[in-house]
Amino acid sequence: MENNYKSEMCGICNREKPKGIHLYTLFICCDCEQKMIHTEPCEAEYQHYLDKLKNMKQTTLYS
Ligand SMILES: [Zn+2]
Repeated sequence: MENNYKSEMCGICNREKPKGIHLYTLFICCDCEQKMIHTEPCEAEYQHYLDKLKNMKQTTLYS
């Protein structure tokens, strides 16, 4: 039981989701996590995810 249970904004789909994982400072909801797992590296969508993560890393570096 967690009393401070709350939704977080997913960094990929920009929706508030109660469940997900954290990659660096980016929160990724279960749905997007599943998509990432099932996305082939050659697909444009995968590149989209990588760009998001890169942006997050840069933001972290400069903050
Ligand atoms: Zn999401």
